[in-house]
Parts: sequence; structure tokens; C-alpha cells
Amino acid sequence: MPEWVALATEPAESAEPPYGKPLGVFGGTFDPVHFGHLRLAEEAADSLGLQRIRWIPAGQPRHREAENKAPQAGATHRLAMVRVAIAGNPRFQFDPAEADAARASYTVPTLERLRNSAGCGAHRPLVLLLGADAFAGLSGWHRWEVLLSLAHVAVAHRPGFPLDGANLPAELADLYRLRRCDTPAALADTPAGLIVSFAMTPLAISATEIRARLTGGLSARYLLPDAVIAYIRANHLYPAKTPPT
Ligand code: ATP
Repeated sequence: MPEWVALATEPAESAEPPYGKPLGVFGGTFDPVHFGHLRLAEEAADSLGLQRIRWIPAGQPRHREAENKAPQAGATHRLAMVRVAIAGNPRFQFDPAEADAARASYTVPTLERLRNSAGCGAHRPLVLLLGADAFAGLSGWHRWEVLLSLAHVAVAHRPGFPLDGANLPAELADLYRLRRCDTPAALADTPAGLIVSFAMTPLAISATEIRARLTGGLSARYLLPDAVIAYIRANHLYPAKTPPT
């Protein structure tokens, strides 16, 4: 049985307040997963009172394809790296359902799927976790206008990406102004619709930098879990490019 099915055995959600502890939803390319991701999820659980965080690696993230930034490692490997990285953390759940490489990954249909699943349903508060860089691009996502009818959004501060209404596209800045909430406890009082931000230990780590280090023949140690590095080595991911002679 996949680990994420365990959610279905949790108490049924309530149609009346209190709705129950929120469930965090953390999607990403994770090419590869690193300590920035892991601290974001761990600190979100603490700061926002999330019962669990469901990690959902994307198969073919469509917004990346459009930007000509297709993932370097295949979906199967990115899934396996997330599985290795989160193993043993009882607050983390693994959801492989979006990682079918042949299908596009869109966040809104993912949230609709969760809303239709047992153990989540229409009322359990869902909190979509995003770094500040991802949030700044939200208004370019497929059906982004309905996102807040399905989930709250929690934005993690990220070095180099100040979260400032003035830097956001106009329509997103408007939404941020209208839906912004400075009380994380309020996330548990309603199923969806709020935007909160939260500070996390600033870690200027990116998957782009890790890929560049590995393909450049440099060490990526201490930027991501040793177990993920071992997986990368064993599967010859991000191979070092031999310099031209
Ligand atoms: P890449 O460098 O390939 O663009 P990434 O390191 O940003 O990748 P993603 O898988 O694209 O990793 O990120 C998944 C989510 O995690 C996004 O919402 C992103 O903003 C967030 N995130 C990634 N790294 C950090 C970090 N160091 N601090 C805060 N948020 C982060």
C-alpha cells in the first residue's frame, strides 16, 4: 500500500468548524531534493501547525517546459530521491500520483484530486507550500484564479526573492493584499482562501546550483542528504561533463 493512502485511515474531516489540523501540500520538481526543501517543510509544519506535509513530486511540470527548463533527472529518479530524503519523518507523506512522466503536472487538478480523496474531502484545511520565487510566478499557472478556493497558500521566505507586493505582477499583488493573513492559527478555521508567509532558516540552496556543482565535478555534500547523494552516485545522475581537450 503506498504510504500516502495512510491518510484515508485518519479521522474523517468535519463539515463544521473546527475542521481539523491542516494538511500541508508540497509540490516541486525536486531535481534533486535538498536541505532547502526539507527545512521549508519541517519549519512550515511547526510554524503553521500542519499535521502532515504531503510531498508531491511533479512529472512534467508544464510551466518549466514552457520555459525550456525540463527536469534533468527522470520522474522515477526524482521520486526515489524524495522518498529517500523524507524517510523516517513521521510528519512527511509521499504522494507519487503526479509523477507520471507522460502527463502534465498542474497544481489546481492536484488539489482537486486531494479534495476528492478520502480523509481530506471538502473541508479539511489544505495549505499549499511555496517558496517566494514560486509564489511570484503563481499568476502564470494553469487555472490559478481558482487555487484559493481549494487551498490556503503559505509562502516561505527565500534568500534572493523578497516577498514584496511591489515585485509581484499586478493581479497577484491584488490577491495578496486581499487574502493576506498574519495569523497562521487562522489556517485551521477555514478550508481554503488565505495567504500567509513564514520565515524559515534562510538557506540559499537551489537544485540548479547543485546540478551545476555535480556536472562541474564539484562536491554537493552538506547541501542535500548523504542518502540522496548516494542515490545520485549509484544511478549516475547529473554526470560530470568532461572538459574539452
Ligand atoms: P531549481 O533550482 O531547479 O529551480 P529549486 O531548488 O527551486 O529548483 P524546486 O523543486 O523547483 O527547487 O522547488 C520546490 C519548492 O521549494 C518551490 O516552491 C521553491 O520555491 C521552494 N524552494 C526550493 N528551494 C528553496 C530554498 N532554499 N528556500 C526556500 N524555498 C525553496
